[in-house]
Amino acid sequence: MSQSEYWIVRGDRHVATTYGRYPLVAVRGEGCYLFDANGNRYLDFLAGVAVNNLGHCHPRVVEAIKEQAERLLHCSNFYHIPQQIELAEMLCKRSFGDRVFFCNSGAEANEAAIKLARKHSKEKYGEHKHEVITALASFHGRTLGTISATGQEKMRSGFTPVVPGFHYVPFGDLVALRAAVTENSCAVLLEPVQGEGGVNIPPAGYLKQVRELCDELGLLLIFDEVQVGIGRTGTLFAYEQEDAEPDIMTLAKALAGGAPIGAMVAKEEIAASFTPGSHGSTFGGNPLMAAAAIATLKTISEEGVLENCNNMGTYLQQRLVELQERYSFVKDVRGRGLIWGMELSIEGGEIVKTALSKGLLINCTAGSVLRFVPPLIVTRVEIDMAISILDDILKDI
Ligand SMILES: *Cc1c(COP(=O)(O)O)cnc(C)c1O
Repeated sequence: MSQSEYWIVRGDRHVATTYGRYPLVAVRGEGCYLFDANGNRYLDFLAGVAVNNLGHCHPRVVEAIKEQAERLLHCSNFYHIPQQIELAEMLCKRSFGDRVFFCNSGAEANEAAIKLARKHSKEKYGEHKHEVITALASFHGRTLGTISATGQEKMRSGFTPVVPGFHYVPFGDLVALRAAVTENSCAVLLEPVQGEGGVNIPPAGYLKQVRELCDELGLLLIFDEVQVGIGRTGTLFAYEQEDAEPDIMTLAKALAGGAPIGAMVAKEEIAASFTPGSHGSTFGGNPLMAAAAIATLKTISEEGVLENCNNMGTYLQQRLVELQERYSFVKDVRGRGLIWGMELSIEGGEIVKTALSKGLLINCTAGSVLRFVPPLIVTRVEIDMAISILDDILKDI
């Protein structure tokens, strides 16, 4: 029995069965590569699902974690935490925001955003304000509140009744959005680019029009940048490309370079509705995670990461479009920066499995969209490797 088989058999016994896992036992990562327990190397174009934006084990993130681990691992939010303060400053300096609430995941960041939107709107306009409009094919997390916000029926199946007060409209449809607003509406929650829903790019000008609609009707605009924030689309935050600033933004995935963290960034006037006791998280903004996030943000600003993301994004797009021109079952190639989707007229699951067996990690969302979210430090050589593996697979279909 191989080392990998050994772990897979052992894992089958006690680990919860919430994931359909591929037969890969991950033991080490370096840059754009992941290594399994049998010593095989994989080119990682999934990057922990858009988490490892700096690649695996970036030395600056690792160093920051080591240093912080020796100093202070955890401290209650009953006290002041310098790393958390510094991180909040960095996020506000780089965004529209004035205040940051820290938590541990994307779902929690969205929970905080929804709670804040409700509390602020109730205080400002009255107790009836509670409804949140979100998009179909969205993804906002797996807690009860965030599956309620998520515009995908399958995520709620088996878990009803869900949290009331959510309405779903087609992503990109301003008329439908306006029609969904009621006197109880308090916020609109959208991903600037839908990730899990199939890498869906909004029509040009849509998010700006949503911003204007929110201003007109007194609604808060929340952007879920959990997947597309932290450089993924070529700017630190995806909203920067839209001429539309949200009132609240949520972050997680790539924020701490692979360490678990979540953040909700808000404008002062809105953030002020959270008072001591309104909300909290034991680990939120923990010194260790905050130190990892500071190192991540510094590395992004100081090492040309966004520039590489834009350059390599253009190159990846070009190479994917070449495949589209060659294979009739490739319907669409869409994306921004280094989040790309290749929509097929066939199911993509088997392609993902074959790619893994050939040393390339990708995944498939929405049934038929191959998703490419490599580290933002990816090189041309690595993109060429990925395309060549993919080409080999598509050739045989
Ligand atoms: C991954 C994701 C989430 C959920 O994040 P978790 O850390 O898994 O809770 C929420 N929103 C978007 C857009 C995501 O991609």
